[in-house]
Amino acid sequence: MTGSIVASAATSEERRIAITMDDLRWQDIPAAMRKDADQRLRAALDRHKVKAALFVIGENGDTPEGRAILREWSGRGHMIGNHTWSHRWYDKMPEEQFGADILRCDAFVRQFPTFRPYLRFPMLKEGGTRERRDWMRAFLKAHGYRNGAVTIDASDWYYDQRLRKCMKERAKFDVNLFREPYLAHLWDRATYYDRLAREVLGRGIPHTILLHYNVLNSYFLGDAMDMFRMRGWQLVDAERAFQDEVFTRQPDTAPAGESLVWALAKETGRYDSVLRYPGEDDVYEKPILDRLGL
Ligand SMILES: [Zn+2]
Repeated sequence: MTGSIVASAATSEERRIAITMDDLRWQDIPAAMRKDADQRLRAALDRHKVKAALFVIGENGDTPEGRAILREWSGRGHMIGNHTWSHRWYDKMPEEQFGADILRCDAFVRQFPTFRPYLRFPMLKEGGTRERRDWMRAFLKAHGYRNGAVTIDASDWYYDQRLRKCMKERAKFDVNLFREPYLAHLWDRATYYDRLAREVLGRGIPHTILLHYNVLNSYFLGDAMDMFRMRGWQLVDAERAFQDEVFTRQPDTAPAGESLVWALAKETGRYDSVLRYPGEDDVYEKPILDRLGL
């Protein structure tokens, strides 16, 4: 008896994390590197035996290059989700127009065998007002969609921008200089959102971390997964993570969005003095990279 109680307590203490990658902005990867970058990303996931989720911007995916990448990823069992056709801010257009942008992407991503009807909101913005938020929640429900929410938000896209700038402007730039600061950033954000989730929900959840299909991760995704594993986290498949009850939650916040954990904390009204808005952005990371001369 005692043994099984101990075992279940240990399970609730477990840290779990799934990899989700947004945008499929393959055109931002220098042409000569694209093939290797794609292979390294897939090899890193294969090595850890996990399936990621790719949230695809339709206009990036529906190109000869994009289709080739998606066929390969889907063929290897990685989940494919919807990230709208043109990746625009929901609040900058009428609801119906944003809905049409989602459906245009849907018509494209649906062809892949591992497509699942999850929407990842661009910039994680789900509506500036309660009315717009609820309009979109009803729209998604009517179309059989769920929110492909992020629980661990981060700014890998900004580290990637800075890395590509260094590679372009400095001869023989050593990309390894980005390893430590980037991994430290991911660790800092992961532990922050995990602590917050445990406080707000009273339990651990399978996290979905927001990363991007980019040069930075082609170098360091494998190292990031090694880091989590070595520090006791378990890597899980993205589709499996989304099965957790927490992803059915619809926090009552406006503006709506950010990390799901952020929004659930915000909803309680008890964290107003400690939650920054937006949850993550380049302004928080710029001083760190400036100081490092990167
Ligand atoms: Zn995006």
